[in-house]
Amino acid sequence: MRSIAIFSTVGLTTFALARLGYLPGPSVADRWGTGWAVASLILMIVAHDAYFYWTHRAIHDPRLFRLFHLRHHRSHNPSPFSAYSFDITEAGLQAAFVPIWLLLVPTQWPIVGFFMVHQIARNTIGHSGYEVFPARRDGRPMFDFLTTTTHHDLHHATARSNYGLYFTWWDRWMGTEHPDYYARFARVARSPDPVTLMDGPAQAVPIESETYGRDAAPQ
Ligand SMILES: [Zn+2]
Ligand SMILES: [Zn+2]
Repeated sequence: MRSIAIFSTVGLTTFALARLGYLPGPSVADRWGTGWAVASLILMIVAHDAYFYWTHRAIHDPRLFRLFHLRHHRSHNPSPFSAYSFDITEAGLQAAFVPIWLLLVPTQWPIVGFFMVHQIARNTIGHSGYEVFPARRDGRPMFDFLTTTTHHDLHHATARSNYGLYFTWWDRWMGTEHPDYYARFARVARSPDPVTLMDGPAQAVPIESETYGRDAAPQ
């Protein structure tokens, strides 16, 4: 609820600034036609994926982790509600993307709306705890350039890999994809029964102890 309040306040403030004439981008984009509307949506999603990957890697730095990202990783076995489970600082950092984008790139308001619907849908699916993405016959993801639920679940399990949001390419370019990603995906995607991605909380790794050097309670 707090993250929703922060995202809404940032959104409303941005909208008010545009109405007051301080943010001309949306009205400029209104004159650029449908082709630009479609292109700006695609560009906005690709840019947000890069923004998320690099800010996410930055807040995994032990000097920033406690201030920005600890609350999100309290979900070792995520549910859809983990999608917006953020510290105030992380919510502010992520909510800042839209005003930064609108300052730099003329984009119509309805496109911002489509972007936000896509953002929350992908974010919630990624934390749902069930794999919904289709697999090929060999068990690999059908759309291998997209992150799957398994992809982000492994991030919550280890906090050392799979930092991407929508696309797998940044993790592959930077060598941060989890080495067991394909095997884990194949196991859940080819199972005849719906299975949760984690085999219960006993498999979850305590983030504070495993990654950041505090004493671990035995699991
Ligand atoms: Zn997450
Ligand atoms: Zn993280």
